[in-house]
Amino acid sequence: MGKEIIIGVIPVLLAFLVFIGVNIAPFVIAVLVLGVLTFLLSKQGGMSLAQKKQTIEVPKTTTQFGEIGGQERAKQELKEALDFLIHRDSLKQYGIRPLKGMLLTGPPGTGKTLMAKAAANYTNSAFVAASGSQFVEMYVGVGAQRIRDLFKEAKQKAEKNNQDSAIIFIDEIDVLGGKREGSQHREYDQTLNQLLTEMDGITTSENPRILMIAATNRADMLDDALLRPGRFDRQIVVDLPDMKARKQILEIHSQNKPLADDVDLEAIARDTFNFSGAQLESVTNEAAIYAFRDKATEITQRHFAQAIDKVMMGEQTDRESTAEERERVANHELGHAIVSEVVRPKSVSQVSLRPRGQALGYVRQSPQQDRYLYTLENLEQQIMIALGGAIAEEMLYGGRSTGSRNDFEQALHLANTIIDTGLSELGIVKLDMVSKEALHEERQRILNDLLDRTRAVLREYFPVFTHALDHLLREEVLNGEEFRAMLEEARRLPKKNNVEELDSHMMRA
Ligand code: ATP
Repeated sequence: MGKEIIIGVIPVLLAFLVFIGVNIAPFVIAVLVLGVLTFLLSKQGGMSLAQKKQTIEVPKTTTQFGEIGGQERAKQELKEALDFLIHRDSLKQYGIRPLKGMLLTGPPGTGKTLMAKAAANYTNSAFVAASGSQFVEMYVGVGAQRIRDLFKEAKQKAEKNNQDSAIIFIDEIDVLGGKREGSQHREYDQTLNQLLTEMDGITTSENPRILMIAATNRADMLDDALLRPGRFDRQIVVDLPDMKARKQILEIHSQNKPLADDVDLEAIARDTFNFSGAQLESVTNEAAIYAFRDKATEITQRHFAQAIDKVMMGEQTDRESTAEERERVANHELGHAIVSEVVRPKSVSQVSLRPRGQALGYVRQSPQQDRYLYTLENLEQQIMIALGGAIAEEMLYGGRSTGSRNDFEQALHLANTIIDTGLSELGIVKLDMVSKEALHEERQRILNDLLDRTRAVLREYFPVFTHALDHLLREEVLNGEEFRAMLEEARRLPKKNNVEELDSHMMRA
């Protein structure tokens, strides 16, 4: 309101002054200059706000070690190292060199960022985070300046929060700290040098004390200078969670969700071998989305099963296929499933005919135990399972299709592993010392032998195809229990009958 009155009064006043003969030019110029100055200043203020946003502001972290599922050994190692930050007197008393940097290594999504945040909370430190890629700049010197700013920001933040330590977390450190090759000079060498200089400048007596935590998936790519004593000299492996850890992570992320009574987190943990913490978080989230779409009041085990498939294989696709194609895919998948269940009882969790990602159908296996070491028998079983689909097509349609490409790739990879690891008839070998022909021959011998064994299994259980096919075509999914019941039925039939049924089918085909 006041503004409007002033805007109205000023022109009238100016007109009056001109009317009585006063020279208003100096006044008008002064107002204009003032206006421009105010505008420029306000613009600069705006710029500095935007710049502030560019430096990574992280609010005081509330993440606690208890919110990280599994990773017990990594958490323990990290806490032990952090205790030195808390009990500084002991450092002095024993003359221990202060820990300046810790490197968390492991696959993506395993909780490295969470660990760094929890470390800040545990030690009541200010927390500043950045990612290696943020330091790679076209302009020389910008990356190095950013490193200086990062250290400055960490110190300021600690002082502001009245904390006597600060943790700087750099994710993807390999981007700025990769191995330097020869005399080739890269812009980010300067950035790396600046980081090393800042780290070398950290002292025990300094207040606030700075601790660097860096994360990478590729520790082998890092420049040696980064790993020297006094820099990132403590490495902590943050690995994919085992079965117990997977259950804990699922529990943590299901806490805020309405779970139905039939949800068995242990079974879900069993079905998610090789999943990272981030993927498990995604499973719980996707299950909740499926429940929401169904307008269900609670999340059920079925929603979780769909969520696992989504995270593992991708979203369902609407690919239309002909009845003929669907039947072939169903038999192909049943081939995998029969072999899987015969060579590893209770291993089939679901047979599905719903196209997902690139797959037209799939069998989800549920390993009874996490496995990190494989015997020859394990590898051969896995190859037989992979070949089951193609052999089923061969028996039922007299030939294979292109749908087995991935299966064959997997079988070849496993056959190579058998040879590589000295488990083949070639004995202990160094691959580059064996001729290509000899390798090819041994691979073929392994695969042909396993093709025969797979054929024998499918011949024996042939009636399962006829029993399960209708169900699978109708319902699109067949769960492990239903499938095992069908297999049991086939087992009760005299073996001779099964083979006869197959022979008569093959005559018809
Ligand atoms: P990247 O290497 O890709 O940066 P990261 O190892 O730093 O990944 P985080 O960013 O810490 O992984 O994890 C991503 C998300 O996954 C977390 O926010 C959390 O929801 C979930 N998560 C990962 N690991 C765990 C775990 N051990 N316990 C609970 N949640 C986890």
